[in-house]
Amino acid sequence: MNYEVIIIGGGPAGMSAALVLGRSRIKTLVLNTENPRNNITTHSHGFLTQDGMHPSEIFKIAKQQLTKYTSVDYKKEKAISVKGENSNFSVETKRDIYSAKRVIVATGHKDNIAEVGIEGLTEVYGKSVYPCPFCDGFEMAGKKLAVFGDAVMGPMFSKTISHWSKNVMVFTNGEKVEDEELLSNLTKNGIQIVEEKIKKLISTEGQLTGVELIDDTVIQREGGFLPDTKSTESTDFVKKMNISTEIGHFGMELYKVDDNKETEVKGFYIIGDARTGWSGVASSVAEGSEVAAAITHQIIEENWQ
Ligand SMILES: Cc1cc2nc3c(=O)[nH]c(=O)nc-3n(C[C@H](O)[C@H](O)[C@H](O)COP(=O)(O)OP(=O)(O)OC[C@H]3O[C@@H](n4cnc5c(N)ncnc54)[C@H](O)[C@@H]3O)c2cc1C
Repeated sequence: MNYEVIIIGGGPAGMSAALVLGRSRIKTLVLNTENPRNNITTHSHGFLTQDGMHPSEIFKIAKQQLTKYTSVDYKKEKAISVKGENSNFSVETKRDIYSAKRVIVATGHKDNIAEVGIEGLTEVYGKSVYPCPFCDGFEMAGKKLAVFGDAVMGPMFSKTISHWSKNVMVFTNGEKVEDEELLSNLTKNGIQIVEEKIKKLISTEGQLTGVELIDDTVIQREGGFLPDTKSTESTDFVKKMNISTEIGHFGMELYKVDDNKETEVKGFYIIGDARTGWSGVASSVAEGSEVAAAITHQIIEENWQ
């Protein structure tokens, strides 16, 4: 089965690319396992007109609106491998092998909360402890908050979180903050550091109520943030293509793409969290739309006599 474009992953990035490619009447296949990163959370925030909706609701509307575009085939199938180069790719699933001139990887990242090593964290993640203050800081504003992180990330992140609440405690889970200047700055700004090891988090139906330390002390908290979710790429398709990386925003390592989101492998594109580690819904949608418009322009050029 031949396609002009295969999109692997149908989260905000992939579905947005599919929508714009559909509007350009380009023969496109979307392969999607329908498990976006934010499925775990109760509300998605900060995306114009969809603020506060459940991620699954946003996906449902995206999928329904895509049905109008008959050049787009949507399949709930898992891509197992991507092979090829130079505008000649094949993507394998359990059911079939599909080929295309172009492949867009939009498979996102997955968070590995169990690897953070705090008992009870999985239960509250996405419900009252979040990775991103721009996503959930508004709802947590003014509450008694915890920041869970190591001796470097925890204090740094707590500075950001203090914009939303003046009652912030950093829990380093046994690590000692060595930087005296940082410590004094945190204290000046009313942020407390707790360096004792955490025994477990206490919660009811996903709502954090306290942090129990190793000495059985319980510190009351109403929510929190976690800067490092130990996230990893959801698939190894990009790694296997040996795509170069570069240092981007906040010192993060990003896959190198050009203005069209195309990598050094011609016809191989990466968008959304799969490229950046964290894009958020709005930026993922923007990247999907950009890559689709860029591909349409490339196809127009190829067909121009
Ligand atoms: C707890 C939490 C709360 C968040 N809240 C917000 C918020 O309020 N606002 C906001 O802007 N952002 C929020 N985010 C971030 C947001 O979820 C991501 O940045 C966004 O989903 C990235 O979109 P994406 O399309 O790149 O990847 P994803 O949304 O992760 O989508 C990837 C898709 O690829 C599919 N897939 C993976 N592997 C394969 C494969 N092998 N074959 C086929 N399909 C595959 C997956 O099933 C999934 O559907 C939150 C994240 C978390 C964890």
